This record gives sequence, structure tokens and C-alpha cells, in this order.
Amino acid sequence: MSNMLRLFALIAVLPALLPAQPFPPHRVIGNVYYVGGADLASYLIVTPQGNILINTGFEDSVPLIRASIKSLGFQFSDIKLLMVTHAHGDHVAGMATVKRLTGAKMAAVEQEVPLLESGGKTDYLFGGSAGFTPVKVDRIFKDGGKIELGGTALTAHLTPGHTPGSVTYSLDIIENGRTYHVLIANLGTINPGTVLVKNTKYPRIAEDYASTFRILKELPCDIFLASHAAQYGLHRKFRPGMTYSPDTFIDPNGLRREAERLEAIYLTQLEQERQEEKVIQERKHFKEATPP
Ligand SMILES: [Zn+2]
Repeated sequence: MSNMLRLFALIAVLPALLPAQPFPPHRVIGNVYYVGGADLASYLIVTPQGNILINTGFEDSVPLIRASIKSLGFQFSDIKLLMVTHAHGDHVAGMATVKRLTGAKMAAVEQEVPLLESGGKTDYLFGGSAGFTPVKVDRIFKDGGKIELGGTALTAHLTPGHTPGSVTYSLDIIENGRTYHVLIANLGTINPGTVLVKNTKYPRIAEDYASTFRILKELPCDIFLASHAAQYGLHRKFRPGMTYSPDTFIDPNGLRREAERLEAIYLTQLEQERQEEKVIQERKHFKEATPP
């Protein structure tokens, strides 16, 4: 690994060295609750047949998630299904512990299984350097698949690039006779050090990112949530102590705006890399054409 990559990997794991920051748990909408930290988002979806937990944060987030679930009046042991938006340590490093403590089943999209089961070793960017305890996947679903528990159905939309199996989940919540389209989005952020052109470890990366932006801009959305609280403006939308209203997180244009902003960053990087690649090819061609 080059020194540059080593540095990027260090930046990626740096938050792991800081203790998890708590945040007041709250009801987001319907049976969806926020049980994550100040930035690393975790969602609890409560059903009569047990609960779904999406994302755990780092290992030290687990006691905080547990306390958050308890303070909302639910049981940690009622978690039956575990899911992730993408398998990087800041969202899944606590998964193996939650699985062991609750006996819940891990459900994941087929493209993210190698990353989860290798503990991050197959990661195209970080390799083994930002790893986590591997988690066995019990239930594999496909892009477009439905994951159901106790009357709640989530649809998985593959939104790859950040990892090959990054997923956005959609679900409809009915409150006071109105249907709200809720998305737990995996945004197409690009980690420092990511190569979009001629990425031998992930040849489809540029097309995958492009499809992610297309999907994120198209999905119907009244309320958008994300892997990081800052990505959907949790601290702006919610003040601790607020009474519950299904309208608190309504933001019909927020996801599209964020997707467009990230797409612009992606297109700039893609164009820059293409230009660099062109120069390399021209030099190569010139060298071949010029006899020594
Ligand atoms: Zn990530």
C-alpha cells in the first residue's frame, strides 16, 4: 500500500479512535426511531414481530444504542433483523456484538456479503486497514428485494459506488391518513483516495456512482434519512425535547439537492481523472512512436 493510501486509511479510521458521541433517541416517523449517535445514524424499526436495526456505528456505539432503545421503552433483545446501508466500520463495526447479544439475523444485499463476511478485507479502497469483526449474513436479498417483518416492508435499492453493495431502503409510513415516502439513503459520497477511472479493484465504479445519483434523484421521497446524521440535517431539523410530529423531518427536495451536489463533485473528479488518463496515453503513444 502506498503512503498516500495509508494516510487515507488512517483518516477513515480516525473517528474510531474518538469515543462515540450520544444523541437523544427519538421517534422519526411512524414506527421508525433514531437510536444512533451525534453523527453515526442507527435506526430502529419497531414491529409486533420484533424490531429491525439498521447500522450500528463503531463497536463502542453498542452500549449507547442499547441505552437509547431502552429509554424509548423498547427491548434490545427484541431486535430480530440487522441491516446496513453500507459495510464500512463506522456503520457496521458493532454489528457482530449486537448479533451475538440478540441472536438477530443479518440481512444484506448480495453485493455487500463479501465485505461483511470478510470484516472489510475485500474493500476496494481500504483493504484490511479499516476492518471490523466479520458478520455472517443469514439472509441475502437482491436489488429491488423486499425485506418484511411484522407488517413493515422495506424495499432495497442498490446505490453502489461508495461500496459495491451500498443500499438505500424505502418504506411507506401511513400517519393520520397520509402516506409518507421514507428513504434511508446511502448517498454517493466519494472517500479520499478513490479512483474512478481504470480502477482495477472495482472496474465498474464510475458507472455505479452514476446509477446511484440517477436512482437517488428519481426515488419518491417525503422524508430522507441517511447513514450520517449530518447528511440529512438531523441537528437542523430536530431539537432535543421536541414533541413528536410526523412532519418534523419532511423535506421533499432535500435528497435531490444533496444527490445533485454530490453528483457535481463526482463529475468534476471523473473529468479530471479522464484528462489525466488522456495525458498518460498520449505520452505513451509518443514514446512508442519515437525511436530511441
Ligand atoms: Zn463509508
